[in-house]
Amino acid sequence: MKIESQCLHEGYDPQNGEPRVMPIYQSTTYVYDSTKAVGDVFDDPTLSMIYSRFENPTTDAVEKKIAALEGGVAAMCTSSGQAASLISILNLCSAGDSFIAVSTIYGGTVNLFAVTLKRLGIECIFVSPDSSDDELRKAFKPNTKCVFGETIANPALTVLDIERFAKIAHEKGVPLIIDNTFATPILCRPIEWGADIIIHSTSKYMDGHAVQVGGVIVDSGKFDFTNGNFPDFTEPDESYHGVVYTKDYAFAPFIVKARMQLMRDFGCYPAANSSFLLNLGLETLALRMKQYCENALKVAKFFKEQDKIEEVIYPGLEGDKYYELAKKYTPMGASGVISIVVKGGRENAIKFMDALELASNEVHVADIRTCVLHPASATHRQLTDEQLAAAGINGGMIRFSCGLENVDDIIEDIKKGLKAID
Ligand SMILES: *Cc1c(COP(=O)(O)O)cnc(C)c1O
Repeated sequence: MKIESQCLHEGYDPQNGEPRVMPIYQSTTYVYDSTKAVGDVFDDPTLSMIYSRFENPTTDAVEKKIAALEGGVAAMCTSSGQAASLISILNLCSAGDSFIAVSTIYGGTVNLFAVTLKRLGIECIFVSPDSSDDELRKAFKPNTKCVFGETIANPALTVLDIERFAKIAHEKGVPLIIDNTFATPILCRPIEWGADIIIHSTSKYMDGHAVQVGGVIVDSGKFDFTNGNFPDFTEPDESYHGVVYTKDYAFAPFIVKARMQLMRDFGCYPAANSSFLLNLGLETLALRMKQYCENALKVAKFFKEQDKIEEVIYPGLEGDKYYELAKKYTPMGASGVISIVVKGGRENAIKFMDALELASNEVHVADIRTCVLHPASATHRQLTDEQLAAAGINGGMIRFSCGLENVDDIIEDIKKGLKAID
């Protein structure tokens, strides 16, 4: 199946007389024929469902769909994108370990990595997305367990050279984790470029309608965890009667371990109803992504012609610093988010935003409706000036998330914003 069809049909295959639409299994528990059957499923949790703190049939169908869209072997949904980032790192790193992250990643992820994980004894080493091969190699320490970056970064809109980062991560014997939230598998499938683990905030384009917060982790099934760097994968798990993930679950050791250890213990699993809504969003993902790209390119070109705008950052725009990388990794278009820098800094940025009528001022992005956000006073408020600069953000910057309204209406609204700036 082509990806448009996968969006509709993967994950749920109703049989004779069953519901056409994937049902909501609103149940915390599952029943078994005998005590032995319960024992068997504890011995091998992949046999059937156990408990909805870490698995559920509705969510399972969505997981299968997303795994197929990304070209992975298995996936696990989480109750937020933050939970997906957290689990993807904790599945590889313990206290005393380090990992590398690209400095332009989402501000919430920077906080999680630089502050909260530090308190747990895990060090995050930040590198520029433009690091040369040698700079990247030099960032590694003997205890470095993975590399983390975003396909198209939120909101800096840097495009990561995934193939190059994957090559060096693999040279060092560690996996590359890619946050593919902004690109979605419609525009880029990082596994095809060598990425090993994919994560998403499904709250954004995947859901698309701003109705539920969620996340997902996808396992490519390709990384060799038996290379000596990951004893937690190759030695018996004492918390799970001696399971050896690379041996007993060789098809998808990353996801099985993440579910059996971390989801079991943390319980940040989505509700079935949320997964049902996520599935509805996924059904139209391919169609929506094409339109977001088309609208955003037109809006970016319009911004580019305006005197009151100092800078337009959109990797799909010719002349953008990341245009060539965007052409390589997201050939269909560079997604729906544009960053602009308004002349006159913070003050004018706020005037522009407050004059918009169609576009709403939201702490959200990648919504079906056009929305705007001022990162320096919202999502990135906690960052220091140095961190803001490293994340590529300045006071006049606005994150402009193109929705699916008619693009002429979006541009009319932008004109109102521009008029408000003196
Ligand atoms: C929003 C976002 C996150 C965090 O996801 P939540 O669902 O809000 O927890 C992570 N990465 C990126 C790129 C995001 O845009």
